[in-house]
Amino acid sequence: MSETSLLKDMIDALKLLPGVGPKSAQRMAFHLLERDREGALKLAETLKEGVTRIGYCSRCRTFTEHETCRICKSPSRKRAQLCIVETPADVVAIEQASIYQGLYFVLHGRISPLDGIGPEDIGLDLLEQRLDEGEIEEIILATNTTVEGEVTAHYISELASARGVQTTRIAHGVPMGGELEYVDSGTLTHAFQGRKSY
Ligand code: ZN
Repeated sequence: MSETSLLKDMIDALKLLPGVGPKSAQRMAFHLLERDREGALKLAETLKEGVTRIGYCSRCRTFTEHETCRICKSPSRKRAQLCIVETPADVVAIEQASIYQGLYFVLHGRISPLDGIGPEDIGLDLLEQRLDEGEIEEIILATNTTVEGEVTAHYISELASARGVQTTRIAHGVPMGGELEYVDSGTLTHAFQGRKSY
C-alpha cells in the first residue's frame, strides 16, 4: 500500500466527525501530519481507550467507564426524583445549570414508530423496573418539545401513573423542537422551577 492510500484512510476516518466534510478532513489530516504528530497520537490513543472502555451506567444509562455513574452513586442526590432526558448531553446541560439534585434516566432517543423505534429501544423496560422498586416519587419529563419527544413523554407518564408516581413536565421556556443541550442555564432554571403536573 502506498502512502497516498494511508493518507486517504486518515481523511476518510476524520470525515466521520459531525460537520466535517472532505475539505475540512483533509485540512485536519495535513495539520496533524505537518504540525502535531504527538497530539495526533494522543488523540488516537484517547479515542481508542474511550471508545473501548466507556459504556453505559447500569442505573441511568448515561456514559460512564464504571458500572454505576458518579451521579447515581452520589449520597447527596435526592433519590425520589428522576429526570428523564433524551441524551447524555442533556444531563451535562442540566448539571451545568446547578438546579437539580435528583437522579436521571437517559433514553438515548425517543419513541418514533416511523423509524421503528419502540419503548424497549429507549430502555423503558429498565425504567419500569426502576419504578417498580418504589423509591421514585416524582418523574420529571425533560424530553425535547418535538412531536416524538411529546409522544415519549406521554408514554412515560402512563407508566408512572399506573404506579401512582407523580409526573411533571419542565416548563416550555425551551423553544419548540429545541434540544436541551443548546438551552442556556437561565432558561433551564426557569424550565425546572416552572415545571407543571403532567
Ligand atoms: Zn447513572
